[in-house]
Amino acid sequence: MSISEILLALSLLGMIYLYARKNRKVSSEKPAKTDLSAQTLRISPEKIIAAKLLTAEQQAALKPQEVLAILKKGNEDFVNGDLTVRKNAERVLQASSGQFPLAVVLSCLDSRVPVEDVFQRGVGDIFVVRVAGNIVNEDILGSLEYACKVSGSKVIVVLGHENCGAIFSTVAKVTLGNITPLLAKIQPAVEASASFPGIQNVTNPAYLHHVCAENVKNSVQNIRSKSQILNDMEAAEEIIIVSGIYDMETGKVNFM
Ligand SMILES: [Zn+2]
Repeated sequence: MSISEILLALSLLGMIYLYARKNRKVSSEKPAKTDLSAQTLRISPEKIIAAKLLTAEQQAALKPQEVLAILKKGNEDFVNGDLTVRKNAERVLQASSGQFPLAVVLSCLDSRVPVEDVFQRGVGDIFVVRVAGNIVNEDILGSLEYACKVSGSKVIVVLGHENCGAIFSTVAKVTLGNITPLLAKIQPAVEASASFPGIQNVTNPAYLHHVCAENVKNSVQNIRSKSQILNDMEAAEEIIIVSGIYDMETGKVNFM
């Protein structure tokens, strides 16, 4: 595929996105819990991310399902527009002596998915591994193993997202520099979507969503099959490996 074909394909995606946006159902908007119209902004104390970071003991005491509940609640607050105040200077100083993060998130690099914000977490709270298409390779497996086996994280979240350029480019068979071998790692998701009922190309948002979901599933499967350490930890219920897809229009993570 040539550069001009890529540009054409990208502009086509833009048109599809705008069309889908124009035709989507307008959901009833929930009011933000923080009153931004008041002259003096009032923020309830529990909405301030505490100055203290998790200790090794607190991290060790948490069960994987409890950590997942914390992440889900954080995403709920993010979606609801709850204002979060972070005492960053204090947290940075505290984090300088060590880290005991709750979880590790494997995400695409897309700028519209700010992972810490998406889960309402701050400095020292979560590890984030980012690579286009949230794929898995040896270095990423090593990073996930470090997060869980060495640093005690309890949950691995593989986080895909709607309108992913990496998924689009794989379906569009883009070839360009080092992007080509990267997209090859997403290609199994296209092959796993062979039985998708309907149009199988970039003009069909439902098909792109399907490939995205298959890609997330493949990453979870690759983590389990290619990391003995993480597989053993999951079997021993020391960690859980979960997946989700970030909705670009609402900010909600739909866990699978
Ligand atoms: Zn992406």
